[in-house]
Amino acid sequence: SMLLIGRLEQFATFLSNLFFQSQSLRDFFTVLDRKSEIADRPGALALPRVRGEVVFEDVSFGYDPVQPALHGLNFRAPPGSTIALVGPTGAGKSTALSLLYRAYDPSEGRVTVDGHDVRDVTLESLRQNIGVVFQDAGMFYRSILDNLRVGNPEAEPDQIEAAVAAAEAAAFIARKPEGLETLVAERGRSLSGGERQRLAIARAMLKDAPILILDEATSALDNATEARIQRALDRLTIGRTTFVIAHRLSTVRNADLILVLDQGQLVEQGRYAELIAQDGLFARLAQEGQFAPDAPSGE
Ligand code: ADP
Repeated sequence: SMLLIGRLEQFATFLSNLFFQSQSLRDFFTVLDRKSEIADRPGALALPRVRGEVVFEDVSFGYDPVQPALHGLNFRAPPGSTIALVGPTGAGKSTALSLLYRAYDPSEGRVTVDGHDVRDVTLESLRQNIGVVFQDAGMFYRSILDNLRVGNPEAEPDQIEAAVAAAEAAAFIARKPEGLETLVAERGRSLSGGERQRLAIARAMLKDAPILILDEATSALDNATEARIQRALDRLTIGRTTFVIAHRLSTVRNADLILVLDQGQLVEQGRYAELIAQDGLFARLAQEGQFAPDAPSGE
């Protein structure tokens, strides 16, 4: 019976964890929902390599049906353009991009890539066309090389070398005890934040997808590292339709289109100078110093 009591205690702990950490409970159900909803429809076609036109048509979505996270979102991203998403925390920026990647499907409206509704193509072919560079990009307990090859298992040594160089990662990899063969700890814990970011950039270079999703980190990095990451990102985004959750002033200044979200609605859209002149939410965010100036580019 000690064993039984032990089990019950474990179970009680499990339940209380489940119910008192509502965020994880929410995630738990979200994952379950996602599994059942997001799948290839019968006869889904394999999307070839796209030019990269992305259109959101009247897109609405809610994790919870009573409280929409996105409401009536409309915009068009021409191939090769850079689209900056800005707005307060919880405005719906990540949610919008998760619909493009098809982590979820809209409750209303549609998302198209080169004219194809993303629900009509296979998930694999859609995601083959999208590179993702997140702050805490998934790093596995494998070698640096294996971690780089995730998006392109057939990458040749010269391609890997070029990607590593373009991502400004060559020098730090060379300093690791076994270079490219050095093991990365789980979740990339054996690497600094700046090293992880550059590996994520090199990985995206190797994947060479026509569409990119970036989450611009405002992590505490030294100026030289920040400048390197900025240069690497600039190289990565050339010729690709890029969606960036923007935290840097240079990003919003250079974006072809800024989408300003607030409480799930697109409240303003345009280029930097237009939005500043409009003197609305974007101008206020800029004035409040929401966008970080570039690091001095000296080494
Ligand atoms: P942003 O990226 O602009 O900070 P999000 O897209 O993350 O905003 O969030 C939009 C809204 O959706 C917020 O109210 C947020 O709490 C909610 N939300 C985000 N992710 C989830 C989720 N996995 N489950 C339930 N609600 C979520």
